[in-house]
Amino acid sequence: MLNRRTFLKTGAAALPLAAELSSLAQATGGSASASLATSPVLVPLPERLAPLDPATQPWQARIRRVGQSNMTEHDPAVMNIEEWADYWHSIGTEIVFVSVTGILAFYPSKVPFHRWGKFLNGRDFFGECTAAAKKRGMRVVARMSPDLNWPDALQAHPEWAMRHADGSPQLHGEDPQLFRTCMFSSYMDDYVPAIMHEINERYDVDCFYTNGWPPIGSLPDCHCAICSKLPPTGTPAYWHAFNDRLFSLWQRYDGIAKEKKHDSFFFANLGGNVRASPNLARLGKIAAWFQGDNQGRTNADPAIWGCALQTRVCKAVLSPNSFAANINGAYSTSIVRWRNASKNDEESRMWMHESLAGGLPLYNHFIGSEDGFCEDRRWQKVGAEVYGWAAKHDAHLTGRRSLANIGVVMGQSTQLLYKGPEAAHSTHYMHETTQGIYETLLTGRFAFDFVHEEMLTPERLSKYRVLVLPNVAMLSDEQCSQIRNYVLQGGSLMASFETSLYDENLQPRSSFALGDLFGISKAGDVVGTNGNAYYARIERRHPILDGFTDTNWIPGAQNRVPLHPVSDPLLTVVPGFVNYPPELAYPPQPHTTEPAVVLRESGASRLAWFPGDIERTYWLTGHGDLLRLMHNTLRWLTREERVVDVQGDGFVEMFAWETGPGYAVHLLNYTNPNAHHGWVSGVYPLGPQTVTMRLPQGVHVKSVELLTAGGSVPFHVADQALRFTVPRVGDYEVAAITVA
Ligand SMILES: [Zn+2]
Repeated sequence: MLNRRTFLKTGAAALPLAAELSSLAQATGGSASASLATSPVLVPLPERLAPLDPATQPWQARIRRVGQSNMTEHDPAVMNIEEWADYWHSIGTEIVFVSVTGILAFYPSKVPFHRWGKFLNGRDFFGECTAAAKKRGMRVVARMSPDLNWPDALQAHPEWAMRHADGSPQLHGEDPQLFRTCMFSSYMDDYVPAIMHEINERYDVDCFYTNGWPPIGSLPDCHCAICSKLPPTGTPAYWHAFNDRLFSLWQRYDGIAKEKKHDSFFFANLGGNVRASPNLARLGKIAAWFQGDNQGRTNADPAIWGCALQTRVCKAVLSPNSFAANINGAYSTSIVRWRNASKNDEESRMWMHESLAGGLPLYNHFIGSEDGFCEDRRWQKVGAEVYGWAAKHDAHLTGRRSLANIGVVMGQSTQLLYKGPEAAHSTHYMHETTQGIYETLLTGRFAFDFVHEEMLTPERLSKYRVLVLPNVAMLSDEQCSQIRNYVLQGGSLMASFETSLYDENLQPRSSFALGDLFGISKAGDVVGTNGNAYYARIERRHPILDGFTDTNWIPGAQNRVPLHPVSDPLLTVVPGFVNYPPELAYPPQPHTTEPAVVLRESGASRLAWFPGDIERTYWLTGHGDLLRLMHNTLRWLTREERVVDVQGDGFVEMFAWETGPGYAVHLLNYTNPNAHHGWVSGVYPLGPQTVTMRLPQGVHVKSVELLTAGGSVPFHVADQALRFTVPRVGDYEVAAITVA
């Protein structure tokens, strides 16, 4: 197959497909998905970025290794500060967190209600740790925790507490002596700044951080005197008030940090990936440091790619000079938790590798330092190994620009505020949707980024051949207009279910705001199923149905928004029916004219609409037909174009970056019995992976090194198409390409 197309250039917003494309002979080897018999069309990589002058970067943007021994009240009695500082310094850590706190003071604080830790005995533990770090050339983050305080503070300042609807204070679940402080109260206006000022007066710290606030992945539910006057929590109006307060405090604290040093700053706890509580588009404009507090897998969020997903969220919203890190909880993160015992080495290593692959630095974290420097020291060895290895390859591991041709709209407001259809209410509804599309993209080895729905500018979207809208229910008229413009410029779309059926305030629309683009209109409310889910009857052949033989129908999804008939449908809905008893498991209505997918082509654009919640249904079932259908559709939408193509066996997450020396292709090997649950406890190596990418004109390859295996591999370049094979992948490999 040889495709040569030249598309109309439309100025700065022209999409990359405007470049001349050509096909490349198919690489050898198998594929992650049996349906993928790919013959990729390699899109030339963009012109290389101008060299970066480190002097123009803020100091934090150059950090590659962060360390945190999270200090306990007992540490002043048992921790060996020299041993602590020596460890972090010896493995190349550039910045450490030292606890000031706010729940209890690690120094002799004079701020009222900043009670001294029981074992402080008048010592300046914070000052000693800070001095030990500084002596070794490490920077210091002053770590505070404004989320909890004690009964004496509650008695003196009842207005500081979060309140239940009955007026009683909200107490901490594990230690009910502690009450939860309200972010709208004067606690945040008076108490937290008082501590910051005290630290500024006494110590030389590099920046300030608050743990425990803002909340991760949820919004506060407080009924104090102030909050009672706010809109109900969980509503868009509440979210606006929450964000206004949050950013007002953030900027005020940032100003206090800068009173001491102009290059100091404030940052706060963030996480929850696509379901973060602060508006990430707003945050991205002001945050100097995005702290991804996504420390490990839990039963509620059990997929292996949790850290990698968080890195994509960070990268989606940050401005180029800001910094992000995601924490590896080297302790045992889970529902059943041991905060002072190491987790499996392999799991810890994978989480750190996901950070690196996603373009973030390393950040290892453990709690407490009993017995000098931890009763359980196993995490230190794993950390030292990964930090030491990474330090040798900083240049190749520092990604400057993601190489991707698919953008996935995060839909943060949908993630946080939309509950899912009545037919399937679930607090995890959008989480399931995200995981479904994420796994689909991984198994198809697509190169993708996340895009925030408030950042759909032509400059951001121009690199993407396809924009994916996985049930992005809430979209404003303006956002829909931006998507429409993207399509007019030649962009393609895949969307599903209730996408654009609500405005930015969660007000339902009578039909889809993007309906005109797709040529669809809503024919009724969401139809759920509770037995046999609906089917999609094959009406004719099409590339998105490749591989479906010997069947007249395939699974549809669990829920759907019925559409009015379209001409020449490809798949039609066979409505759900009884599953049990089997005597009744047959379709009373075996044939309808209701479309189960709608495809459209207009110029260079291709559009695909799934009326069902196909991504989520895939996540719930793992059904290969749904996966094949989405893979085929993405390949049809992209016209088989790839920016980086990796062919080989195994379940892999792939990241590709433009770097200072050249390019880096990261392969995370998720082929493991514990990919979807628990922790990995072993490595199942993969065989050859063949990488192809088309370099910009004038760029020449000097070497391709494997950073984990060590050494170089042979490579071949023809007509700027670079091709090489990684012979084996353990848990993680980085192919580092140096160019001239
Ligand atoms: Zn309140």
